[in-house]
Amino acid sequence: MPLQVRCLDCGHVAPFSPSEFSCPRCHSEWREASYDYEGAKQEWLRALTQRPFKLWRYRELLPVREPSPLLMLGEGGTPLIRAVNLGMMLGLPHLYIKDERQGPTASFKDRQAAVTIAALKEAGITEMVVASTGNVAISYSAYAARAGIKLWIFVTSLVPATKMREIALYGSQLIKVTASYDQTKQVAADFARQRGLYLDTGARSIPSVEAMKTIAFEICEQLSWEAGRSSNVLPWRAPDWYIQAVSGGMGPLGIAKAFRELYQMGLIDRMPSIAAIQAAGCAPMVEAWKKNAEVAAPVTSPRTHIETLATGNPGRTYTLLRAYMLEHGGLFESVSDAEAFRAMHVLAKMEGISAEPAAATAFAGLFKMVRQGIVRPTDTVVVNCTGHTMPTEEEVLGDEWVHDVALPAQQAAAAPPQEGLLAALNQVVPQRFPRVVIVDDHEDARRLIRRVLQSQGNFTLFEASNGQEALQLIYRELPDLIILDLMMPEMDGFSVLEHLKTHPETSRIPVIVVTAKELTPEEKQRLRGQIQGLMQKGDFLSDELALEVKELLE
Ligand SMILES: *Cc1c(COP(=O)(O)O)cnc(C)c1O
Ligand SMILES: [Zn+2]
Repeated sequence: MPLQVRCLDCGHVAPFSPSEFSCPRCHSEWREASYDYEGAKQEWLRALTQRPFKLWRYRELLPVREPSPLLMLGEGGTPLIRAVNLGMMLGLPHLYIKDERQGPTASFKDRQAAVTIAALKEAGITEMVVASTGNVAISYSAYAARAGIKLWIFVTSLVPATKMREIALYGSQLIKVTASYDQTKQVAADFARQRGLYLDTGARSIPSVEAMKTIAFEICEQLSWEAGRSSNVLPWRAPDWYIQAVSGGMGPLGIAKAFRELYQMGLIDRMPSIAAIQAAGCAPMVEAWKKNAEVAAPVTSPRTHIETLATGNPGRTYTLLRAYMLEHGGLFESVSDAEAFRAMHVLAKMEGISAEPAAATAFAGLFKMVRQGIVRPTDTVVVNCTGHTMPTEEEVLGDEWVHDVALPAQQAAAAPPQEGLLAALNQVVPQRFPRVVIVDDHEDARRLIRRVLQSQGNFTLFEASNGQEALQLIYRELPDLIILDLMMPEMDGFSVLEHLKTHPETSRIPVIVVTAKELTPEEKQRLRGQIQGLMQKGDFLSDELALEVKELLE
Protein backbone atom coordinates (compact mmCIF):
# COMPACT_ATOMS: atom_id res chain seq x y z
CA MET A 1 0.00 0.00 0.00
CA PRO A 2 1.56 3.33 -1.03
CA LEU A 3 1.73 6.16 1.48
CA GLN A 4 -1.63 7.88 1.90
CA VAL A 5 -2.43 11.37 3.06
CA ARG A 6 -5.72 12.04 4.80
CA CYS A 7 -7.28 15.52 5.04
CA LEU A 8 -8.01 16.55 8.63
CA ASP A 9 -10.96 18.65 7.49
CA CYS A 10 -12.89 16.64 4.90
CA GLY A 11 -11.34 13.21 5.37
CA HIS A 12 -10.38 12.91 1.70
CA VAL A 13 -7.56 10.41 1.14
CA ALA A 14 -4.96 10.90 -1.60
CA PRO A 15 -1.54 9.43 -2.40
CA PHE A 16 1.40 11.41 -0.99
CA SER A 17 3.30 13.83 -3.20
CA PRO A 18 5.72 16.36 -1.66
CA SER A 19 4.82 19.04 -4.18
CA GLU A 20 1.14 18.99 -3.29
CA PHE A 21 0.44 21.31 -0.38
CA SER A 22 -3.29 21.00 0.12
CA CYS A 23 -6.24 18.67 -0.08
CA PRO A 24 -7.37 18.33 -3.71
CA ARG A 25 -10.99 18.33 -2.57
CA CYS A 26 -11.32 21.09 0.08
CA HIS A 27 -7.90 22.81 -0.21
CA SER A 28 -7.18 22.44 3.50
CA GLU A 29 -3.43 22.42 4.25
CA TRP A 30 -3.94 20.25 7.33
CA ARG A 31 -3.39 16.66 6.32
CA GLU A 32 -1.87 13.61 7.93
CA ALA A 33 0.14 10.71 6.57
CA SER A 34 -1.12 7.20 7.22
CA TYR A 35 0.65 3.90 6.55
CA ASP A 36 0.16 0.19 6.46
CA TYR A 37 0.61 -0.17 10.21
CA GLU A 38 0.13 -3.92 10.42
CA GLY A 39 2.76 -4.49 7.73
CA ALA A 40 5.14 -2.06 9.44
CA LYS A 41 4.69 -3.80 12.78
CA GLN A 42 5.52 -7.23 11.33
CA GLU A 43 8.55 -5.81 9.55
CA TRP A 44 9.83 -4.04 12.67
CA LEU A 45 9.48 -7.10 14.89
CA ARG A 46 11.37 -9.12 12.30
CA ALA A 47 14.05 -6.64 11.24
CA LEU A 48 14.61 -3.85 13.77
CA THR A 49 17.14 -5.74 15.87
CA GLN A 50 19.28 -6.06 12.71
CA ARG A 51 19.17 -2.39 11.71
CA PRO A 52 21.58 0.32 12.86
CA PHE A 53 20.20 2.62 15.57
CA LYS A 54 19.65 5.58 13.24
CA LEU A 55 16.64 7.49 11.96
CA TRP A 56 16.08 5.35 8.86
CA ARG A 57 15.47 2.18 10.88
CA TYR A 58 11.87 3.43 11.01
CA ARG A 59 11.57 3.91 7.25
CA GLU A 60 8.28 1.97 6.99
CA LEU A 61 6.62 4.89 8.82
CA LEU A 62 8.42 7.70 6.98
CA PRO A 63 7.37 9.40 3.70
CA VAL A 64 10.44 8.36 1.69
CA ARG A 65 10.47 5.28 -0.53
CA GLU A 66 14.20 4.65 -0.91
CA PRO A 67 16.32 6.58 1.61
CA SER A 68 19.60 7.32 -0.15
CA PRO A 69 22.81 6.73 1.82
CA LEU A 70 24.38 9.50 -0.25
CA LEU A 71 22.26 12.09 1.54
CA MET A 72 22.69 10.79 5.06
CA LEU A 73 24.76 12.52 7.73
CA GLY A 74 24.21 10.08 10.57
CA GLU A 75 20.86 11.55 11.64
CA GLY A 76 18.88 10.13 14.54
CA GLY A 77 19.95 7.48 17.02
CA THR A 78 20.86 10.04 19.65
CA PRO A 79 21.66 8.82 23.17
CA LEU A 80 19.10 8.70 25.95
CA ILE A 81 21.18 9.80 28.90
CA ARG A 82 20.15 9.07 32.48
CA ALA A 83 20.37 12.34 34.42
CA VAL A 84 21.54 10.92 37.72
CA ASN A 85 22.67 14.13 39.42
CA LEU A 86 19.82 16.31 38.26
CA GLY A 87 17.44 13.46 39.05
CA MET A 88 18.71 13.34 42.62
CA MET A 89 18.40 17.07 42.96
CA LEU A 90 14.79 16.92 41.83
CA GLY A 91 13.91 13.66 43.52
CA LEU A 92 13.33 11.97 40.14
CA PRO A 93 15.27 8.71 39.85
CA HIS A 94 13.92 8.06 36.34
CA LEU A 95 14.91 11.27 34.60
CA TYR A 96 16.37 10.99 31.10
CA ILE A 97 17.77 13.45 28.58
CA LYS A 98 17.23 12.79 24.88
CA ASP A 99 20.49 14.27 23.69
CA GLU A 100 19.64 15.76 20.32
CA ARG A 101 22.84 17.82 20.50
CA GLN A 102 24.48 14.74 19.05
CA GLY A 103 22.80 15.12 15.70
CA PRO A 104 24.79 16.29 12.64
CA THR A 105 24.22 20.01 13.33
CA ALA A 106 23.35 19.70 17.03
CA SER A 107 19.59 20.13 16.99
CA PHE A 108 16.56 17.89 16.53
CA LYS A 109 15.82 19.85 13.33
CA ASP A 110 18.34 17.53 11.66
CA ARG A 111 15.61 14.89 11.56
CA GLN A 112 13.26 17.29 9.79
CA ALA A 113 15.90 18.33 7.29
CA ALA A 114 17.05 14.76 6.61
CA VAL A 115 13.54 13.47 5.86
CA THR A 116 12.33 16.53 3.96
CA ILE A 117 15.41 16.78 1.75
CA ALA A 118 15.25 13.04 1.05
CA ALA A 119 11.57 13.33 0.08
CA LEU A 120 12.25 16.36 -2.17
CA LYS A 121 15.20 14.68 -3.82
CA GLU A 122 13.03 11.64 -4.53
CA ALA A 123 10.39 13.91 -6.11
CA GLY A 124 12.99 15.68 -8.25
CA ILE A 125 12.64 19.06 -6.49
CA THR A 126 15.86 21.10 -6.60
CA GLU A 127 15.13 24.41 -4.93
CA MET A 128 13.35 25.31 -1.70
CA VAL A 129 12.48 28.10 0.72
CA VAL A 130 12.44 27.99 4.50
CA ALA A 131 11.87 30.54 7.27
CA SER A 132 13.64 29.84 10.51
CA THR A 133 14.42 31.05 14.02
CA GLY A 134 17.92 29.62 13.49
CA ASN A 135 18.24 25.89 13.97
CA VAL A 136 16.03 24.81 11.07
CA ALA A 137 18.14 26.99 8.81
CA ILE A 138 21.38 25.35 9.93
CA SER A 139 20.02 21.81 9.51
CA TYR A 140 18.48 22.43 6.11
CA SER A 141 21.64 24.16 4.96
CA ALA A 142 23.74 21.12 5.77
CA TYR A 143 21.42 18.62 4.08
CA ALA A 144 20.68 20.85 1.10
CA ALA A 145 24.42 21.28 0.53
CA ARG A 146 24.82 17.53 0.43
CA ALA A 147 21.82 16.97 -1.81
CA GLY A 148 22.67 19.78 -4.20
CA ILE A 149 19.40 21.56 -3.48
CA LYS A 150 19.36 25.33 -3.70
CA LEU A 151 18.12 26.77 -0.44
CA TRP A 152 16.63 30.18 0.31
CA ILE A 153 16.63 30.95 4.01
CA PHE A 154 14.69 33.72 5.69
CA VAL A 155 15.71 34.57 9.25
CA THR A 156 14.82 37.46 11.54
CA SER A 157 17.54 39.92 12.43
CA LEU A 158 17.34 38.61 16.02
CA VAL A 159 19.12 35.37 15.11
CA PRO A 160 22.61 35.58 16.67
CA ALA A 161 25.41 36.42 14.25
CA THR A 162 27.24 33.17 15.07
CA LYS A 163 24.26 31.18 13.82
CA MET A 164 23.93 33.35 10.70
CA ARG A 165 27.55 32.75 9.81
CA GLU A 166 27.11 29.02 10.22
CA ILE A 167 24.15 29.15 7.80
CA ALA A 168 26.15 31.18 5.29
CA LEU A 169 29.10 28.80 5.54
CA TYR A 170 27.02 26.03 3.94
CA GLY A 171 26.38 28.21 0.92
CA SER A 172 22.69 28.91 1.50
CA GLN A 173 21.07 32.08 0.21
CA LEU A 174 20.55 33.90 3.49
CA ILE A 175 17.97 36.66 3.77
CA LYS A 176 17.83 38.62 6.98
CA VAL A 177 14.46 40.26 7.60
CA THR A 178 14.10 43.00 10.17
CA ALA A 179 10.69 41.95 11.44
CA SER A 180 9.09 39.44 13.82
CA TYR A 181 9.39 35.74 13.06
CA ASP A 182 5.74 35.48 12.03
CA GLN A 183 6.19 38.35 9.55
CA THR A 184 9.40 36.75 8.29
CA LYS A 185 7.51 33.51 7.64
CA GLN A 186 4.96 35.48 5.62
CA VAL A 187 7.70 37.10 3.51
CA ALA A 188 9.22 33.68 2.84
CA ALA A 189 5.82 32.25 1.85
CA ASP A 190 5.19 35.16 -0.56
CA PHE A 191 8.62 34.73 -2.08
CA ALA A 192 8.09 30.99 -2.59
CA ARG A 193 4.66 31.48 -4.13
CA GLN A 194 5.91 34.21 -6.47
CA ARG A 195 8.69 31.99 -7.77
CA GLY A 196 6.83 28.70 -7.60
CA LEU A 197 9.32 27.18 -5.15
CA TYR A 198 8.82 24.48 -2.54
CA LEU A 199 8.17 26.02 0.88
CA ASP A 200 8.68 24.20 4.14
CA THR A 201 5.40 24.84 5.95
CA GLY A 202 6.50 23.51 9.32
CA ALA A 203 3.66 21.79 11.12
CA ARG A 204 1.66 21.53 7.86
CA SER A 205 4.52 19.84 6.04
CA ILE A 206 4.08 16.07 5.97
CA PRO A 207 7.80 15.15 5.84
CA SER A 208 8.63 17.57 8.69
CA VAL A 209 6.01 16.27 11.09
CA GLU A 210 6.74 12.66 10.14
CA ALA A 211 10.45 13.17 10.82
CA MET A 212 9.77 14.28 14.41
CA LYS A 213 8.09 10.96 15.15
CA THR A 214 11.45 9.24 15.17
CA ILE A 215 12.34 10.96 18.47
CA ALA A 216 9.44 9.17 20.15
CA PHE A 217 10.14 5.84 18.43
CA GLU A 218 13.71 5.98 19.68
CA ILE A 219 12.74 6.96 23.23
CA CYS A 220 10.35 4.02 23.63
CA GLU A 221 12.90 1.57 22.24
CA GLN A 222 15.67 2.99 24.40
CA LEU A 223 13.59 2.87 27.58
CA SER A 224 12.91 -0.76 26.75
CA TRP A 225 16.62 -1.44 26.45
CA GLU A 226 17.15 0.30 29.80
CA ALA A 227 14.78 -2.31 31.24
CA GLY A 228 16.91 -5.03 29.66
CA ARG A 229 14.47 -5.90 26.89
CA SER A 230 15.12 -6.34 23.20
CA SER A 231 13.16 -4.46 20.52
CA ASN A 232 11.32 -7.58 19.40
CA VAL A 233 9.75 -8.01 22.82
CA LEU A 234 6.47 -6.12 23.24
CA PRO A 235 5.41 -3.77 24.61
CA TRP A 236 8.19 -1.20 24.45
CA ARG A 237 8.36 1.15 27.42
CA ALA A 238 6.65 4.50 27.04
CA PRO A 239 7.74 7.34 29.34
CA ASP A 240 5.22 9.03 31.66
CA TRP A 241 6.30 12.45 30.37
CA TYR A 242 7.85 13.87 27.25
CA ILE A 243 8.94 17.47 27.84
CA GLN A 244 10.04 19.89 25.15
CA ALA A 245 10.44 23.63 24.70
CA VAL A 246 8.13 24.79 21.93
CA SER A 247 7.97 27.57 19.44
CA GLY A 248 5.63 26.53 16.63
CA GLY A 249 4.96 23.15 18.25
CA MET A 250 5.92 20.93 15.33
CA GLY A 251 8.13 18.70 17.49
CA PRO A 252 5.40 17.72 19.96
CA LEU A 253 2.92 17.38 17.09
CA GLY A 254 5.08 14.73 15.45
CA ILE A 255 5.79 13.10 18.78
CA ALA A 256 2.09 12.95 19.64
CA LYS A 257 1.46 11.25 16.28
CA ALA A 258 4.24 8.76 16.99
CA PHE A 259 2.80 7.79 20.37
CA ARG A 260 -0.61 7.29 18.74
CA GLU A 261 0.89 5.11 16.03
CA LEU A 262 2.92 3.04 18.48
CA TYR A 263 -0.18 2.54 20.61
CA GLN A 264 -2.33 1.63 17.64
CA MET A 265 0.27 -0.93 16.55
CA GLY A 266 0.41 -2.41 20.06
CA LEU A 267 4.08 -1.45 20.44
CA ILE A 268 3.37 0.56 23.62
CA ASP A 269 0.59 -0.08 26.10
CA ARG A 270 -0.06 3.42 27.45
CA MET A 271 0.02 7.00 26.22
CA PRO A 272 2.59 9.41 27.66
CA SER A 273 1.73 12.91 28.82
CA ILE A 274 3.34 15.72 26.84
CA ALA A 275 4.50 19.01 28.37
CA ALA A 276 5.12 21.90 25.96
CA ILE A 277 7.13 24.69 27.56
CA GLN A 278 7.19 28.24 26.18
CA ALA A 279 9.20 31.32 27.00
CA ALA A 280 6.96 33.61 29.08
CA GLY A 281 7.64 36.54 26.73
CA CYS A 282 6.12 34.58 23.83
CA ALA A 283 3.62 32.09 25.24
CA PRO A 284 0.44 32.17 23.15
CA MET A 285 -0.24 28.47 23.73
CA VAL A 286 0.15 28.73 27.50
CA GLU A 287 -2.13 31.74 27.66
CA ALA A 288 -4.81 29.96 25.65
CA TRP A 289 -4.42 26.73 27.65
CA LYS A 290 -4.84 28.53 30.97
CA LYS A 291 -7.98 30.19 29.67
CA ASN A 292 -9.21 26.83 28.42
CA ALA A 293 -9.43 28.29 24.92
CA GLU A 294 -9.42 26.05 21.86
CA VAL A 295 -7.71 28.63 19.66
CA ALA A 296 -4.57 30.57 20.61
CA ALA A 297 -4.50 34.34 20.15
CA PRO A 298 -1.21 35.34 18.47
CA VAL A 299 1.46 37.29 20.36
CA THR A 300 2.42 40.09 17.98
CA SER A 301 5.57 41.37 19.64
CA PRO A 302 7.41 38.57 21.43
CA ARG A 303 9.47 39.65 24.43
CA THR A 304 12.06 36.97 24.91
CA HIS A 305 15.81 36.82 24.32
CA ILE A 306 15.40 33.19 23.34
CA GLU A 307 14.85 33.83 19.64
CA THR A 308 14.48 30.11 18.86
CA LEU A 309 11.17 30.19 20.72
CA ALA A 310 9.74 33.36 19.23
CA THR A 311 6.84 31.99 17.17
CA GLY A 312 3.98 34.32 18.09
CA ASN A 313 1.26 32.58 16.13
CA PRO A 314 1.04 28.81 16.62
CA GLY A 315 -2.16 28.58 14.55
CA ARG A 316 -3.86 25.22 14.45
CA THR A 317 -0.86 23.37 15.94
CA TYR A 318 -1.96 24.56 19.37
CA THR A 319 -5.47 23.26 18.88
CA LEU A 320 -4.19 19.85 17.74
CA LEU A 321 -1.74 19.59 20.64
CA ARG A 322 -4.39 20.66 23.11
CA ALA A 323 -6.63 17.85 21.90
CA TYR A 324 -3.83 15.34 22.62
CA MET A 325 -3.26 16.74 26.08
CA LEU A 326 -6.94 16.72 26.99
CA GLU A 327 -7.23 13.15 25.83
CA HIS A 328 -3.97 11.64 27.08
CA GLY A 329 -2.58 14.08 29.65
CA GLY A 330 -0.10 16.90 29.51
CA LEU A 331 0.00 20.65 29.67
CA PHE A 332 1.41 23.93 28.40
CA GLU A 333 3.58 25.92 30.79
CA SER A 334 5.86 28.93 30.54
CA VAL A 335 9.07 30.02 32.24
CA SER A 336 10.94 33.33 32.25
CA ASP A 337 14.18 33.86 30.32
CA ALA A 338 15.95 34.14 33.70
CA GLU A 339 14.63 30.74 34.79
CA ALA A 340 15.78 29.23 31.50
CA PHE A 341 19.29 30.66 31.82
CA ARG A 342 19.52 29.41 35.37
CA ALA A 343 18.40 25.94 34.28
CA MET A 344 21.01 26.03 31.51
CA HIS A 345 23.70 26.68 34.09
CA VAL A 346 22.44 23.97 36.47
CA LEU A 347 22.32 21.44 33.62
CA ALA A 348 25.88 22.18 32.57
CA LYS A 349 27.20 22.02 36.12
CA MET A 350 25.27 18.95 37.24
CA GLU A 351 25.28 16.78 34.13
CA GLY A 352 28.08 18.10 31.94
CA ILE A 353 25.56 18.99 29.25
CA SER A 354 25.76 22.35 27.59
CA ALA A 355 22.35 23.08 26.09
CA GLU A 356 21.13 26.13 24.26
CA PRO A 357 18.72 28.48 26.05
CA ALA A 358 15.73 27.12 24.13
CA ALA A 359 16.42 23.60 25.36
CA ALA A 360 17.09 24.87 28.88
CA THR A 361 13.57 26.29 28.80
CA ALA A 362 12.27 22.71 28.85
CA PHE A 363 14.37 21.95 31.94
CA ALA A 364 13.15 25.08 33.69
CA GLY A 365 9.64 23.88 32.89
CA LEU A 366 10.46 20.51 34.46
CA PHE A 367 11.74 22.23 37.62
CA LYS A 368 8.46 24.10 37.84
CA MET A 369 6.37 20.98 37.31
CA VAL A 370 8.30 19.14 40.03
CA ARG A 371 7.78 22.04 42.46
CA GLN A 372 4.07 21.99 41.67
CA GLY A 373 3.85 18.24 42.25
CA ILE A 374 2.67 17.64 38.67
CA VAL A 375 5.60 15.39 37.87
CA ARG A 376 5.76 12.69 40.54
CA PRO A 377 8.89 10.98 41.93
CA THR A 378 8.00 7.63 40.36
CA ASP A 379 7.49 9.10 36.87
CA THR A 380 9.77 8.27 33.97
CA VAL A 381 10.54 11.63 32.41
CA VAL A 382 12.31 12.39 29.13
CA VAL A 383 13.44 15.92 28.29
CA ASN A 384 14.47 16.89 24.76
CA CYS A 385 17.83 18.62 24.81
CA THR A 386 19.36 20.43 21.88
CA GLY A 387 21.87 22.93 20.88
CA HIS A 388 24.86 25.08 21.36
CA THR A 389 25.29 27.39 24.36
CA MET A 390 27.69 29.56 22.41
CA PRO A 391 25.66 32.72 21.83
CA THR A 392 24.66 33.17 25.47
CA GLU A 393 27.41 31.91 27.71
CA GLU A 394 28.44 35.41 28.72
CA GLU A 395 24.97 36.27 29.94
CA VAL A 396 24.75 33.13 32.02
CA LEU A 397 28.15 33.22 33.62
CA GLY A 398 28.17 36.76 34.95
CA ASP A 399 31.50 38.16 36.22
CA GLU A 400 34.50 36.27 37.53
CA TRP A 401 34.18 33.17 35.39
CA VAL A 402 37.79 33.18 34.28
CA HIS A 403 41.05 33.55 36.13
CA ASP A 404 43.10 36.22 34.39
CA VAL A 405 46.79 35.71 34.69
CA ALA A 406 49.43 38.12 33.42
CA LEU A 407 53.16 38.07 33.91
CA PRO A 408 54.05 40.88 36.36
CA ALA A 409 56.45 43.36 34.73
CA GLN A 410 59.11 43.65 37.44
CA GLN A 411 59.36 39.87 37.89
CA ALA A 412 59.71 39.27 34.20
CA ALA A 413 63.34 40.35 34.11
CA ALA A 414 64.55 38.65 37.31
CA ALA A 415 62.84 35.28 37.45
CA PRO A 416 62.56 32.79 34.60
CA PRO A 417 59.21 33.34 32.89
CA GLN A 418 57.76 30.01 34.03
CA GLU A 419 58.19 30.91 37.69
CA GLY A 420 56.90 34.44 37.23
CA LEU A 421 53.73 33.08 35.69
CA LEU A 422 53.32 30.50 38.40
CA ALA A 423 53.65 33.15 41.08
CA ALA A 424 51.10 35.30 39.35
CA LEU A 425 48.81 32.29 39.10
CA ASN A 426 49.15 31.58 42.80
CA GLN A 427 47.95 35.08 43.51
CA VAL A 428 44.72 34.65 41.61
CA VAL A 429 44.18 31.01 42.56
CA PRO A 430 45.12 30.45 46.21
CA GLN A 431 46.71 27.16 47.24
CA ARG A 432 44.69 26.65 50.38
CA PHE A 433 40.97 26.32 50.06
CA PRO A 434 38.27 25.97 52.72
CA ARG A 435 38.18 22.38 53.92
CA VAL A 436 34.84 20.63 54.04
CA VAL A 437 33.98 17.16 55.32
CA ILE A 438 30.96 15.47 53.70
CA VAL A 439 29.38 12.68 55.75
CA ASP A 440 26.78 10.50 54.07
CA ASP A 441 26.36 6.75 53.78
CA HIS A 442 25.10 7.02 50.18
CA GLU A 443 27.82 7.35 47.59
CA ASP A 444 25.43 9.07 45.15
CA ALA A 445 24.56 11.70 47.71
CA ARG A 446 28.24 12.37 48.47
CA ARG A 447 28.96 12.73 44.79
CA LEU A 448 26.06 15.14 44.34
CA ILE A 449 27.15 17.37 47.23
CA ARG A 450 30.75 17.26 46.03
CA ARG A 451 29.61 18.30 42.57
CA VAL A 452 27.41 21.11 43.89
CA LEU A 453 30.31 22.54 45.90
CA GLN A 454 32.96 22.11 43.21
CA SER A 455 30.82 23.85 40.65
CA GLN A 456 30.44 26.88 42.89
CA GLY A 457 33.95 27.49 44.12
CA ASN A 458 37.17 25.97 45.33
CA PHE A 459 37.11 23.63 48.29
CA THR A 460 39.26 20.84 49.61
CA LEU A 461 36.77 18.06 50.16
CA PHE A 462 36.90 14.99 52.40
CA GLU A 463 34.30 12.26 52.52
CA ALA A 464 33.19 9.79 55.16
CA SER A 465 30.57 7.09 54.69
CA ASN A 466 29.61 6.45 58.33
CA GLY A 467 29.66 8.06 61.76
CA GLN A 468 32.79 6.37 63.08
CA GLU A 469 34.81 7.20 60.01
CA ALA A 470 33.48 10.76 60.12
CA LEU A 471 34.68 11.35 63.69
CA GLN A 472 38.18 10.04 62.90
CA LEU A 473 38.36 12.20 59.79
CA ILE A 474 37.10 15.33 61.56
CA TYR A 475 39.51 14.99 64.51
CA ARG A 476 42.39 14.49 62.08
CA GLU A 477 41.60 17.22 59.55
CA LEU A 478 39.78 19.80 61.72
CA PRO A 479 37.80 21.10 58.72
CA ASP A 480 36.23 24.52 58.31
CA LEU A 481 32.79 23.02 57.76
CA ILE A 482 30.92 19.72 58.06
CA ILE A 483 28.01 18.58 55.89
CA LEU A 484 26.26 15.84 57.77
CA ASP A 485 23.60 13.25 56.92
CA LEU A 486 21.39 12.20 59.86
CA MET A 487 20.26 8.71 58.91
CA MET A 488 23.23 6.38 58.81
CA PRO A 489 23.54 2.81 60.06
CA GLU A 490 25.37 2.16 63.38
CA MET A 491 26.37 5.65 64.45
CA ASP A 492 23.85 8.22 63.14
CA GLY A 493 24.27 11.96 62.60
CA PHE A 494 22.80 12.86 65.99
CA SER A 495 25.50 10.85 67.77
CA VAL A 496 28.22 12.37 65.60
CA LEU A 497 26.99 15.83 66.59
CA GLU A 498 26.98 14.93 70.30
CA HIS A 499 30.59 13.71 70.09
CA LEU A 500 31.72 16.83 68.25
CA LYS A 501 30.07 19.14 70.75
CA THR A 502 31.86 17.54 73.72
CA HIS A 503 35.35 18.22 72.31
CA PRO A 504 36.61 21.83 72.45
CA GLU A 505 38.59 21.60 69.16
CA THR A 506 35.56 20.41 67.19
CA SER A 507 32.67 22.04 69.04
CA ARG A 508 32.85 25.26 67.06
CA ILE A 509 33.07 23.81 63.55
CA PRO A 510 29.89 24.82 61.69
CA VAL A 511 27.62 21.94 60.61
CA ILE A 512 25.01 21.82 57.86
CA VAL A 513 22.63 18.89 58.14
CA VAL A 514 21.33 17.45 54.87
CA THR A 515 18.55 14.97 55.44
CA ALA A 516 16.31 12.82 53.27
CA LYS A 517 13.41 12.70 55.70
CA GLU A 518 11.02 15.13 57.30
CA LEU A 519 12.22 15.68 60.89
CA THR A 520 9.91 15.11 63.88
CA PRO A 521 9.50 17.98 66.38
CA GLU A 522 11.63 15.99 68.88
CA GLU A 523 14.43 15.61 66.33
CA LYS A 524 14.30 19.29 65.49
CA GLN A 525 14.56 20.02 69.23
CA ARG A 526 17.66 17.80 69.47
CA LEU A 527 19.32 19.76 66.69
CA ARG A 528 18.45 23.21 68.02
CA GLY A 529 21.55 25.30 68.71
CA GLN A 530 23.78 22.44 67.48
CA ILE A 531 23.82 23.13 63.76
CA GLN A 532 24.05 26.10 61.42
CA GLY A 533 21.90 24.92 58.52
CA LEU A 534 19.30 22.30 57.65
CA MET A 535 18.54 21.20 54.09
CA GLN A 536 16.13 18.67 52.69
CA LYS A 537 17.71 16.18 50.29
CA GLY A 538 16.04 15.54 46.95
CA ASP A 539 14.53 18.95 46.55
CA PHE A 540 17.42 21.27 47.25
CA LEU A 541 18.64 23.19 44.26
CA SER A 542 22.36 23.45 43.93
CA ASP A 543 22.77 27.16 44.47
CA GLU A 544 21.08 27.09 47.89
CA LEU A 545 23.54 24.66 49.40
CA ALA A 546 26.49 26.45 47.85
CA LEU A 547 25.28 29.80 49.16
CA GLU A 548 24.79 28.44 52.64
CA VAL A 549 28.30 27.00 52.56
CA LYS A 550 29.85 30.23 51.34
CA GLU A 551 28.10 32.27 54.02
CA LEU A 552 29.22 29.95 56.79
CA LEU A 553 32.82 30.05 55.63
CA GLU A 554 33.03 33.82 55.47
C1 LIG B 1 13.00 24.34 16.99
C2 LIG B 1 13.36 24.25 18.39
C3 LIG B 1 12.38 24.31 19.40
C4 LIG B 1 10.94 24.49 19.09
O1 LIG B 1 10.43 23.37 18.49
P1 LIG B 1 8.98 23.28 17.88
O2 LIG B 1 8.62 21.87 18.10
O3 LIG B 1 9.10 23.65 16.45
O4 LIG B 1 8.10 24.22 18.63
C5 LIG B 1 12.79 24.18 20.70
N1 LIG B 1 14.08 24.04 21.02
C6 LIG B 1 15.05 23.99 20.09
C7 LIG B 1 16.44 23.84 20.52
C8 LIG B 1 14.72 24.09 18.74
O5 LIG B 1 15.69 24.03 17.83
ZN1 LIG C 1 -10.02 18.16 2.44
